[in-house]
Amino acid sequence: MIAGLGVMLLTFVAMEGVAWLMHKYVLHGFMWFLHKSHHTHHKHKFELNDLFFAYYGTLAMLFFIFGTEPIDYRFWIGAGITLYGVAYFLIHDVFIHRRLKWFGKSSNVYLKALNMAHKVHHSTQGKYGSQSFGMLWVAPKYFKKAKEIVQKQQEGETWPNIPLKS
Ligand SMILES: [Zn+2]
Ligand SMILES: [Zn+2]
Repeated sequence: MIAGLGVMLLTFVAMEGVAWLMHKYVLHGFMWFLHKSHHTHHKHKFELNDLFFAYYGTLAMLFFIFGTEPIDYRFWIGAGITLYGVAYFLIHDVFIHRRLKWFGKSSNVYLKALNMAHKVHHSTQGKYGSQSFGMLWVAPKYFKKAKEIVQKQQEGETWPNIPLKS
């Protein structure tokens, strides 16, 4: 069980690497025709890019199918992929792109940095010239910037509320 949880955790971390590689070299590569839907403005509820959820879902399911009876390491790899998928969905689709209005704005430095990094990724609408392809791993420069912003916000909140005109 402990070893299994370890495999799950390792898979989760590895998935960030897989997602980064996929995003940089495959989605902004020969699969741009699917990913493009995520980089252009539209009013649809779903995008072709959502097919990647089906892809990772199928992959996880196969690991579950072959890794049960008895449960072996493949089951835990499937669990790691699923966990990453859930985290990705919550952060990327709900928190950053607000496809579902579940969360409000956050003053958490990590979440702010994440959001900034991904918005920079989206500042390019084309296939080339984008940056910040990862999701949960954020480059230190965004952390610094997010920290400054949160600090300023908090200072603003503690300032005495003096009316300008009396
Ligand atoms: Zn992209
Ligand atoms: Zn996005």
